[in-house]
Amino acid sequence: MTRVATLPGDAVPVTERFRITQYLRIALVGLVLLCKALAPDTLLPDRHDLVPWTFVLLGATVLAELVSRVLPRRTVLLFSGMLMVDGLWLAWAAYLTGATTSPLRYAMLLHLGAVCLLASYRTGIKLAVWHSLLLFTIRNMIAGTVLTETSPSKLSGYGSADHRLAIFIVVLWLVAISTSTLSAINERELRRRRGDLEALTSLAEQIERTDDSSSVARTLLDAAVTTYGFPRGVVLASAEGHLPVLASYGLDEDLARRPGRPGPSLVIKQAHDAKQTVLVRGLDVEADPWLARLLPGANNLVVVPLSAEGRSLGALVVEHTSGIRIQRRVVTGLERSASYAALALRNAWLLEQVQRLAATDGLTKIANRRTFEATLEREVARATRSAEHVSLVMVDIDHFKALNDTHGHQAGDEVLRNVAAALSCECRDFDTPARYGGEEFAIILPGCGPEEARDIAERLRRSVSQAPSIVPITASAGVATYPSHAGDADTLVRAADEALYRSKHAGRNTTSMSEGVPPEAQVDALLRRAVSQRLGRPVTSEDGDLLAPTPRVNGD
Ligand code: GH3
Ligand code: MG
Ligand code: MG
Repeated sequence: MTRVATLPGDAVPVTERFRITQYLRIALVGLVLLCKALAPDTLLPDRHDLVPWTFVLLGATVLAELVSRVLPRRTVLLFSGMLMVDGLWLAWAAYLTGATTSPLRYAMLLHLGAVCLLASYRTGIKLAVWHSLLLFTIRNMIAGTVLTETSPSKLSGYGSADHRLAIFIVVLWLVAISTSTLSAINERELRRRRGDLEALTSLAEQIERTDDSSSVARTLLDAAVTTYGFPRGVVLASAEGHLPVLASYGLDEDLARRPGRPGPSLVIKQAHDAKQTVLVRGLDVEADPWLARLLPGANNLVVVPLSAEGRSLGALVVEHTSGIRIQRRVVTGLERSASYAALALRNAWLLEQVQRLAATDGLTKIANRRTFEATLEREVARATRSAEHVSLVMVDIDHFKALNDTHGHQAGDEVLRNVAAALSCECRDFDTPARYGGEEFAIILPGCGPEEARDIAERLRRSVSQAPSIVPITASAGVATYPSHAGDADTLVRAADEALYRSKHAGRNTTSMSEGVPPEAQVDALLRRAVSQRLGRPVTSEDGDLLAPTPRVNGD
């Protein structure tokens, strides 16, 4: 692939700049030929004809064009080389047409101005040196009679040729310096804007790759801090518009780890009410205690509201270096980044909400059957790796149908909600209480052996009977432990369920321990799992043949 040659920091590729100067050269050649055709007396044709030298320039232009096509990587060199050729042609043409009185000297100024704007101020200054050098050389050659004088004698009354040359060179440098300065200012501004745009594009790309709200907030703050060099900053936002710290930069380490209870903020409210960024000199500790706690002694804050679909989500708050007036460009950049991040935050929260809904049971708000199965698989795998126990307790409310029949389903639902809450309260942080189905609950107890699990099951049963209910209720429980009673997650569920069944048979309101799943049942379970993994779906009764033992052929 051909790489386009560029000068460092250039916005327009050098190939394009080269092409433009080529067009200008051709226009210059055309202009000289037109002058010759329309006004043959111009440009002192009697003594020296400029046309042959114009064709020399045209030849050089065509040659440079061909070389640039064959060797595109050499365009930077060609660009500079052709500027030097231009200088030579202009100096020689100016000499031929009257030296210090030649009208072509103005073409030199035009050439210089165009190059300063088109290339860089450095190239412009170098070209001004080149033009001055050539003009001096020719003047000295005329003075030393190496070249003959071409100035018309009637102009000799307008000061000496040396004075005219000096004035022209001063003008030449004025043009070079003023256009170079303007071009440098424009270039710097363009470069900054390009930097801002690139920062925004990179932020958008990074946010695409994030999948949770904290990462979105961190990406936004990192981008703001690296692009504009703020010493401190926070992102305070939540789906409900409260202001917890989602990301922070430059805060005291303890504060960053434990920011404390979020509170409202007056300046963030002002920013949302005004629907625009608010610049704050200092914080009023009384009116804004939460923000003042996070950014103690803050000066010059930029408060950018975060909102999506008309809802206030929070704010990006950054502190900029005191004493320097913040530029409009920076505020605009922050606002663009914030509005992009606000949409991403809203999407991340929606996704988190959907995931939460998919993982929890709608009625009891504890883990549903799907989450239970995934968690049990994970815990059994972890227990296998670390050679630990994992126990499962199945709890079933006794005679729940009767409660439903007598007091109605709504009363039954209320009891189920209360039982779920009671079980959750009784569990440790790393236990998982889940609704297995109907009025049956399953509790995963990582790291628990059979004895400990039995005690916990008893506690859980007691908590069920103490849960608020329209009529007193009791529950039965079955306990099984991996690897003591079962070899995998499926058979562990089966073992706990069988133990629960025995509790029911024993008259309910009791806990039974599993007696272990028979080895053939464990082999069967392992087979079913292998087949379902191969099929990519659960095994059904129609797949019975796959699991049946291979029939023996007579004589085998
Ligand atoms: P046992 O002591 O043998 O467990 O008797 P039981 O009546 O509790 O058991 P059974 O399996 O006969 O009845 C379970 C009842 O649970 C039947 C059904 O109406 C009720 N149930 C299942 N899901 C819900 C629910 O979401 N809400 C309500 N209110 N009741 C439910
Ligand atoms: Mg029941
Ligand atoms: Mg039941």
